Amino acid sequence: MTLNIDNPALLCSQSLINGEWRHAADGRRLAVTNPASGELIAEVPDCTPQDAQAAVDAAQKAFAVFRHGVAKERAALLKRWHGLVMANQEDLARLMSLEQGKPLAESRTEVAYGASYIEWFAEEAKRADGDIIPQQSQNHRLLVIRQPVGVVAAITPWNFPMAMLARKIAPAIAAGCAVVCKPAEDTPLTALAMAKLLQQAGAPAGLINVLTTSRERAGPLADVWLADARVRKISFTGSTAVGKHLARESAGTLKRLSLELGGNAPFIVFDDADIDAAVAGLMVAKFRNAGQTCICPNRVYVQQAVYERFIGKLAEKVGSLTIGPAAGGRAEIGPLINARAVEKVEQHLKDALEQGARLVVGGQRHACPDAPNGHFFTPTVVADVTAAMRMSCEETFGPVVPVTSFATEAEVVEMANATPFGLAAYFYSRDIDRIWEVAEAIEAGMVAVNDGALSTEIAPFGGIKDSGYGREGSRYGLDEYMNIKYIRHGSLARRLPG
Ligand code: NAP
Repeated sequence: MTLNIDNPALLCSQSLINGEWRHAADGRRLAVTNPASGELIAEVPDCTPQDAQAAVDAAQKAFAVFRHGVAKERAALLKRWHGLVMANQEDLARLMSLEQGKPLAESRTEVAYGASYIEWFAEEAKRADGDIIPQQSQNHRLLVIRQPVGVVAAITPWNFPMAMLARKIAPAIAAGCAVVCKPAEDTPLTALAMAKLLQQAGAPAGLINVLTTSRERAGPLADVWLADARVRKISFTGSTAVGKHLARESAGTLKRLSLELGGNAPFIVFDDADIDAAVAGLMVAKFRNAGQTCICPNRVYVQQAVYERFIGKLAEKVGSLTIGPAAGGRAEIGPLINARAVEKVEQHLKDALEQGARLVVGGQRHACPDAPNGHFFTPTVVADVTAAMRMSCEETFGPVVPVTSFATEAEVVEMANATPFGLAAYFYSRDIDRIWEVAEAIEAGMVAVNDGALSTEIAPFGGIKDSGYGREGSRYGLDEYMNIKYIRHGSLARRLPG
């Protein structure tokens, strides 16, 4: 797939620091390749700790001014950005599909989804209300105001290169913060294009800084932000291991943290469920982005009475998915992000089959005639999976559905909760008592009942346990970027009679 976009200015090959497009301090470059073909798309700077420092200097300078602006101006900036993002939806989608691999239709949806957060926080900016607390005597008044936390470091993963960035930058700006941002090594181009549009929308120099780096330099670059006391908040989406590292290393400067980490979502089908609806819901939840989403079901539990029927219907749907590069336009399943991702899927599958799991459909790499060097894997269903298998304990992050049978409600709730993770969970049932009981008993930040889709800008997105803390989107999302300040106004005298 060659890059065919109407607005060539969106293909940026430099990082944005202090309103200037720059090379890395030492000039080193990083190759960005198409996961469907292995072809080189572009080169971007492989930024250094020195660049990270320059970005914080710029952000702090911008913050010193921006923090004094009014909410209406911040809302207007975000609305202009939202307008530009949607006006460039097709180009952004093409750029994203090229570097990330997901089908074009999914990229278009992601751009609209990410933009919905920008629009939402443009509106929320104006609702960062404070409080007046009833005083305990007449000679004082108590007020609460909300203020921006300061410079925010946003670190994002490759699986949703546009939406994860928008979900962080939009609330930060709505709150009055400045941002230093590091996108994933595999998908820097979408982030740079988003920054270009924010600049066009009128963001002042230094308000948004985007630094691209290789995996090798990600740690040293982020270490600068972790150690710098001027960075008051880290908003991270990625693996639990890196999230814990950030939490540990930012303790020295006690930064605020939002950690959107890994998941291991259960998907439960009770015997009273509408089986066709459950299969349809699972297809939506599981196969978006070829199974490379943090909230996609990683463990499917089906009650014994409907177990084989469910597997039969599921296998039929999974077997008919079309696989191919985004360029084809018809593919439902694109390539995995890189060779390591395919190897991980293979290892999980091998481990399960060696321990007695049953392969129902799929199970091997997919050789795509249009893209012989692509990292494709055939959509797969494995039955009779047990808790001891790797695919039950770790995120497989690929198009594989492991299915396990269960007998009772109590048993499946215990199985669902037997994981250190707690991001998303799904279940299908038509029993109203069961619905409430199970929804409340499941240990997860988000639960979908009789639905395969969870994510929306108007609801709080986030996890518990090893899936992290903090919420993105919704009326709760802005709080992550604001400090609460209590102001006590004392020594007041009453002058009016009565
Ligand atoms: P990752 O390895 O943790 O990478 C995420 C980001 O952190 C990337 O930008 C990465 O840069 C950077 N990074 C790596 N090492 C770092 C370090 N020492 N210090 C600071 N930053 C560092 O995760 P991933 O494998 O790319 O992404 C998949 C994971 O993200 C999965 O576990 C998935 O569940 C999770 N995820 C969670 C959510 C959610 O909302 N909860 C959403 C999407 C994804 P490089 O790319 O350069 O290594």
